[in-house]
Amino acid sequence: SASEPLMTVSGLSSGYGPVTILRDIDISVAPGSVTALVGANGAGKTTLMKAIAGLLPAWSGAIRFDGKDITRVPTHERVGQGIVLVPEGRMVFTLLSVEQNLRLGAITPRARDNIGDRLEAMFKRFPRLQERRRQLAGSMSGGEQQMLAIGRGLMAKPRIVLLDEPTLGLAPIMVKQVFSVIEELKADGYTILLSEQNSRLALEAADHGYIIENGRVQLSGPGRELIDMPDVRRLYLGR
Ligand code: ATP
Repeated sequence: SASEPLMTVSGLSSGYGPVTILRDIDISVAPGSVTALVGANGAGKTTLMKAIAGLLPAWSGAIRFDGKDITRVPTHERVGQGIVLVPEGRMVFTLLSVEQNLRLGAITPRARDNIGDRLEAMFKRFPRLQERRRQLAGSMSGGEQQMLAIGRGLMAKPRIVLLDEPTLGLAPIMVKQVFSVIEELKADGYTILLSEQNSRLALEAADHGYIIENGRVQLSGPGRELIDMPDVRRLYLGR
């Protein structure tokens, strides 16, 4: 039904080698919503994104997507189900053109149909990328590369977009643009899990937010409600 979450993470723990990072994480993502993970540098947001994408194994707990247990499903099959990571640091292919980067987003079986049409739709959404269609991705600004990374993710026909730190290192004007893209994607019905150090903007954009601290969910609630909580303002919003 419409009230079922699209994705739930329950009791998840994971980490690197012997080091536990994520501890008993519970989150859920409603279809068509923006869900934000906020918290300090090093809190474990990227680690959680990687575990959801299947790039790190779950040590305990479960991840369910669209009613199915995907805890042990390999990354490529998660992508095949529409779980698409737009990684921190953008990771565009710098020596390929903008168009080639976008086409590579559509390399999975799920996304191989109508590539031309969807490429044109992407250029409509991101006119800047159209202007630079044949330019090497590595020659673009950080903000342009972020738009490209998002566009490449969208080419994979995501059912959930895992957007990891999309504003990292960007100038304020580009930060604003990234957030307006997020709003447009939501208006178009996309489901977004967003990780952000820019807590205020992320919670303003989010239907639901999770504050992550030391690998644990410290607080959660509707984005606007979190913004209004005195402790959240004091500890996470710089006032
Ligand atoms: P950031 O904004 O820096 O991405 P974050 O909340 O996403 O912060 P993570 O990147 O998930 O935090 O890092 C959580 C912890 O895991 C940190 O203490 C970090 O040093 C550690 N960590 C991250 N990657 C590795 C790795 N490959 N090996 C070992 N430890 C790691």
